[in-house]
Amino acid sequence: MKTRISRQFFAHYLVVSLLVLLSTVLALSFLAIASRLAASAFATNRYPASALMRDDYAQIDASPVVESGGSVTIIDRDFRVVRSEGQDALAQDQLTAVEFTEFLVWSKHKNTPFHHDILYNPEGEFWLIVTFPASIRLDFAFILNSKAAAGDLRTAALILAAVLAVYLLLVFALTALYSAVTAAQVTVPLRRLTESTRRLREGDYSARVDLKLRNEFGELQDTFNEMASRIEKEISLRKKSEEDRRRLILDISHDLKNPMSSIQGYAERILHKPEMSREELEGCLQVILHNSERTNGLITELFELSQMDSPEFTLSREQVDLCEILRQLCAELVPQLEQAGFGYEFEIPEKSVFALLDPGRFGRLIHNLASNSLRYNPPGTTVSVSLTASDGRAAITFRDDGVGIPEELKADIFKPFVRVDSTRNPETGGSGLGLSIAQRIAQAHGGELTLLSDGSQGSAFLVVLPTI
Ligand code: ADP
Repeated sequence: MKTRISRQFFAHYLVVSLLVLLSTVLALSFLAIASRLAASAFATNRYPASALMRDDYAQIDASPVVESGGSVTIIDRDFRVVRSEGQDALAQDQLTAVEFTEFLVWSKHKNTPFHHDILYNPEGEFWLIVTFPASIRLDFAFILNSKAAAGDLRTAALILAAVLAVYLLLVFALTALYSAVTAAQVTVPLRRLTESTRRLREGDYSARVDLKLRNEFGELQDTFNEMASRIEKEISLRKKSEEDRRRLILDISHDLKNPMSSIQGYAERILHKPEMSREELEGCLQVILHNSERTNGLITELFELSQMDSPEFTLSREQVDLCEILRQLCAELVPQLEQAGFGYEFEIPEKSVFALLDPGRFGRLIHNLASNSLRYNPPGTTVSVSLTASDGRAAITFRDDGVGIPEELKADIFKPFVRVDSTRNPETGGSGLGLSIAQRIAQAHGGELTLLSDGSQGSAFLVVLPTI
């Protein structure tokens, strides 16, 4: 069974209140003990008026009182001071009856700085006043007189019980209030954290907590929020990659289905029409051959792409002069460019730039970029290739001033099967795998292939590779 924090707080505070009550009782008991100890220790109590009293006041021995800092005063029946030893207890020598009565009343006050012990001697008809300066007064006592009237005792018990009940009720109410307020400091942030965790569990990955606290709950909140945003990112990545994969399978099946159906259709036609003319047969076989080549090409590219994605994929690297190898590749390109009516500019430094490359794969990368420029742009387009090297990196820019890549496709252009001609017409475009393969090759070399958005006309690709 779960116990609520607020209830636990209440129980704790109740225990604390009862402990306070107990300590108060203990403190009062100690006070009573201290009061008794003081009674036996102070000079006041060693020289009470009753012990000093003699019938003849001249014989009263005042010296121990005076030596202890006190005073002895004798007042006769006419309220005249007839003897005074030690410090004066009374400021005048003659008092009136009223003044003496006032003195008697005043001497009983607890807050006077003197302790007065006053005794009347009926024989000698005088008052003996023994005065001591009070050092400390401890006047606490709980006195129960068993001889008091029976009704009074019951009333006293009732009053005591009522006071105690009110006191306990107050303690109870204040404890409840205080525990509710202090528990809220824990329960409110906890409840909000729990609520957000529950939302997260139920799939609401946008759940965040804002407690505006700087304490440990604040730390927990930051950790929670960080965790939630990570989960949110992971989930959206996973969703995206699932979506990508679904699209990939759809694209593959679509791109394979068309040529395969065509092959099947033409093969059946040949089979069911034995009287077919030689030209017609050749035409059918041409279509079958063309579609087989296309299917084969697509499967080869797909195989290449998935091979590069596999963890076992390795490059056959060797140390090569990047400038040299790029120069060779450009030289091989020239006849195709000229045949297509393209212009060209190559800017490759004379000095050597060495890199660890798989020459075959690197050739494939450049070939894919070049064949795109050739396939998608009209005659008159100029292709320019340049290489610069600095800080352990070589940058190859492959640029054409042709039709360019539409803005909305730029972000996805390196994804498999993405192409500008979305009707997927096999006659006007490739598989949409060329740039994906080229990018994987650059990445496998520890480099990157990106599309440059420098506002120039046409398309510009940047290949960055590490050099040695
Ligand atoms: P494909 O195998 O279809 O050529 P790519 O991945 O190589 O696939 O290219 C994707 C798409 O990007 C192409 O279909 C084409 O529309 C566009 N594209 C790529 N390079 C260029 C370029 N140099 N000029 C214009 N369009 C290009």
